[in-house]
Amino acid sequence: MHHGIKKLLLLGAGHAHVQVLARLAQGRPGNLDVTVLTPYPHQTYSGMTPGFVAGHYSEADCRIALEPLMQAAGARWVQGRCNGIDAAARTVSVLSSGATPGKPATLPYDLLSIDTGAVLDRARLEADMPGAATHALAVRPIEAFTTLWPQVMELAQREAVSLAVVGAGAGGIELMFAAEQAIRQNGQRGARFTLVTGGPEVAAGYSPGVQRRVLRQLKRRGITVLREACTGVSEGELHLGNGARLACDVPLLAIGTHAPVWLQGSGLALSEAGHLQVNEYQQSTSHANVFAAGDVANRIDQTHPRSGVYAVRAGPPLAHNLLASHEGQPLKAHHPPRHSLNLLSCGTGHAIASYGPWHLEGAWAWWWKDRIDQGFMARYRR
Ligand SMILES: Cc1cc2nc3c(=O)[nH]c(=O)nc-3n(C[C@H](O)[C@H](O)[C@H](O)COP(=O)(O)OP(=O)(O)OC[C@H]3O[C@@H](n4cnc5c(N)ncnc54)[C@H](O)[C@@H]3O)c2cc1C
Repeated sequence: MHHGIKKLLLLGAGHAHVQVLARLAQGRPGNLDVTVLTPYPHQTYSGMTPGFVAGHYSEADCRIALEPLMQAAGARWVQGRCNGIDAAARTVSVLSSGATPGKPATLPYDLLSIDTGAVLDRARLEADMPGAATHALAVRPIEAFTTLWPQVMELAQREAVSLAVVGAGAGGIELMFAAEQAIRQNGQRGARFTLVTGGPEVAAGYSPGVQRRVLRQLKRRGITVLREACTGVSEGELHLGNGARLACDVPLLAIGTHAPVWLQGSGLALSEAGHLQVNEYQQSTSHANVFAAGDVANRIDQTHPRSGVYAVRAGPPLAHNLLASHEGQPLKAHHPPRHSLNLLSCGTGHAIASYGPWHLEGAWAWWWKDRIDQGFMARYRR
């Protein structure tokens, strides 16, 4: 600390932090020094990623440029990834990217906010699904996925591919529909598509009515559903729990995510699964100067799905509480909604809408989703 100046360190530029930056751009206290540690100069908006795969959006359409946002907020950008926190010493260790790859450094903070999302832990993935880290294309990190997707399309234009998506949650389903649409429209005829659920029903987190709608759409598009676990991946094959092998040229992984391993040993209170425990103020339950939102956090007072919708909702209260904490003002509780509007895209032009027990589908639902997503992105175009 220098002349009463305090350091606010933002880890990651996820859905909540872009809103914190937008709030800081409206007025930042003169005695608050803001640093953002994040690996990319842009934030990829996952909600539009299936639309990118379907060929409806460009990569640029799905990206929020961070540099103008950080500039407007008067924040300094450190390009890199956090790979450890020492909550007692109030420091974050950094794995640099860009000019100095692999060189660890340390960033001090007075106030820390974490919105780094959930991750696909490759060591755990390899233990659960041997060969997957080498032979499959994972949807996370999304930046790597969107960079590699054009290679899948090149292959599909040369030959009739067999593509399988492993994971039948919202992300996996949307990806399946998008890939099928893109390849049917622009790939070789005769391509085959399979959705491997891991065991449970498709869209297991949704009501039976939504599940029926999704299954009907999958059937209509000729997508095979296998309610089997994927136990391994080798060149050209998926290994299934029942001992069968599925011939597969393009295995895509959209399976559940993990908490980042670098939170372990930080001294911060963590849930059993390793997510950062936060209270109703999005504040660490063990360290009052640490806040978190999005998929990396775990609310101790209520459970809600780990989704972009909830990460977005947490943005404004997080921004408020960071500034209130800095100024010694009372914090405001954030009440995530019990239900959220879910719009599951079945490729461009059709979506299934659900809210609690209600569900409907049609072209209008896709149009609505497109308007919401484009509206969110427009807020951050400078
Ligand atoms: C294909 C797909 C489609 C989806 N569609 C939807 C949808 O339509 N609606 C919905 O609600 N949810 C959707 N989701 C889920 C949604 O993506 C996540 O719930 C959401 O991204 C979580 O937001 P977040 O702010 O926690 O983290 P993220 O959006 O993941 O952002 C994390 C940020 O932190 C940075 N970062 C990562 N690691 C580090 C590190 N170690 N150090 C510093 N920075 C780091 C990243 O670069 C990124 O900027 C979808 C997911 C997928 C895979």
